[in-house]
Amino acid sequence: MANLILILGDQLTTDISALNGAEPGRDRIVMAEVHEEASYTNHHKKKLVLLFSAMRHFAERLRDSSWEVHYQAYHPDNPHQSLEDVIAKQIRETGAERLITTECGEWRLHAQIEQWHKRLDIPVEIRGDDRFIATKQEFADWAEGRKQLRMEFFYREMRRKTGLLMSPENGPEGGQWNFDADNRKKWSGKPPAPAPFRVEPDAITRDVIHLVDEHFDDHFGTTDDFHFAVTPEDADAALEHFIDFALPCFGDFQDAISDSEDWLFHSTLSPYINCGLLDPLAVCKAAAQAWYAGRAPINAVEGFIRQILGWREFVRGIYWLHMPEYAQENRLGNSRALPWFYWTGETRMRCMHKAIDATRRNAYAHHIQRLMVTGNFALLAGVKPEDICDWYLAVYADAYDWVELPNVLGMVMHADGGYLGSKPYAASGKYIHRMSDHCANCHYNVNKSTEDDACPFNALYWHFIDRHRDDFAGNPRMGMMYRNWDKQNPDKRTALLRRAEYLLENLEEL
Ligand code: FAD
Ligand code: SF4
Repeated sequence: MANLILILGDQLTTDISALNGAEPGRDRIVMAEVHEEASYTNHHKKKLVLLFSAMRHFAERLRDSSWEVHYQAYHPDNPHQSLEDVIAKQIRETGAERLITTECGEWRLHAQIEQWHKRLDIPVEIRGDDRFIATKQEFADWAEGRKQLRMEFFYREMRRKTGLLMSPENGPEGGQWNFDADNRKKWSGKPPAPAPFRVEPDAITRDVIHLVDEHFDDHFGTTDDFHFAVTPEDADAALEHFIDFALPCFGDFQDAISDSEDWLFHSTLSPYINCGLLDPLAVCKAAAQAWYAGRAPINAVEGFIRQILGWREFVRGIYWLHMPEYAQENRLGNSRALPWFYWTGETRMRCMHKAIDATRRNAYAHHIQRLMVTGNFALLAGVKPEDICDWYLAVYADAYDWVELPNVLGMVMHADGGYLGSKPYAASGKYIHRMSDHCANCHYNVNKSTEDDACPFNALYWHFIDRHRDDFAGNPRMGMMYRNWDKQNPDKRTALLRRAEYLLENLEEL
């Protein structure tokens, strides 16, 4: 036995760098469902089912291709409940000369693996993860010397690097880098949103559902109606489904929120891209191809590609550039605990109830629900970054520290002082009313701000603006908000602040 090759639950592709140069008759692959990884946060039950089932399918595929795979299935009585314990046992059993792995997506585990060569007394080779389009070093070189990082400029670099949506003259296709201005339509039911792509659970998935229901009963969410893809073929079919039925309207309704539709025109591909079932570059190429073939408009295709080539790569770059200090940031000095209704969905705020309930059922909510509903509320309410980050890490099937943390701590909570985003995405109920049909079904009245039945987002918004004057009054993108606030009648301002204070003291009652 020459090498042990550790493959983690979000590295489920035969193209993973840890397998480069490996040989089936010589090396042994190790995969493990361990308690430590499955329970360091309150992972949604559907996320556990997705990962355990996709891991089991992947191990089967490797065995079918003559690989020797040591696979530890989850059992609460397993004596080896951390990856380190599993590897240590494998080293003892096989006398392997070396451990090879691909860098993981989390500082916590990365710090552990970096110590294994000492703790396990074996050479450990940690290879770069070339599923990402930019290496960590490329991002660090780009970021060097910049006080604030702006995704848009990094995204253009990535367009140039990959040639995606670049014309033969090397300019952006369609004559613009960014078509975001076209992507802000409200959705009022037409055209109808496509049904989500579904895969019926096979025997392996049904076993895992049973296991998760039995041993992770106290975790968030439900396994009911599990319909995720767990193989690359099914994930490819999900991509095709998206391109055929949702991509043409993705751009128009990218920012829309609906009271009746959970998925709208979003791809719902992030769980697959993040765990290795889909390759991000291949996904972008498939979308670009749809534009060249006239199957989807440029605002949809560019908008979609920007999310992956731009935002996804950008947040990953920031994570690795600034961890572990980044996780401690709290520049707005927030100290409020996360309201309990984030875990139950039991609130009379219709928009919050709908976003949390969809999250509980699906382990999914689309970007605008995450950013402008649950995220916006946490920002306005001054929730501790640590609490809200833990929540986002737990509740979504696509959540991994490298992508969740910058999105929540930086984009939503502005806790990094504006390093990731130039202004906080704070908004009153007016924004949610403009982009959704929730307010018509809500206990609260979006047109009121100080009365008992007034939309809580309204007073909380002005309280946020008022209490953070020192942080934002000098921000050119916030100046208008401060002018609007200062122009309001002093009695109205007092009433708004009083109403907000009451709400902040009684968050659990909302
Ligand atoms: P689509 O809307 O179809 O977008 C296409 C793809 O673009 C996604 O699949 C995803 O791979 C990528 N993408 C889009 N926006 C982002 C972004 N801001 N950062 C990184 N990738 C992006 N995404 C995660 O993958 N994991 C997370 O844990 C996560 N946490 C988030 C927390 C908050 C508070 C916010 C505001 C965003 C978060 N995102 C996260 C980003 C984004 O919301 C999800 O990627 C997206 O909702 C996934 O659904 P989709 O596949 O239907 O995306
Ligand atoms: Fe949300 Fe306010 Fe609208 Fe109710 S009225 S749905 S709380 S924005």
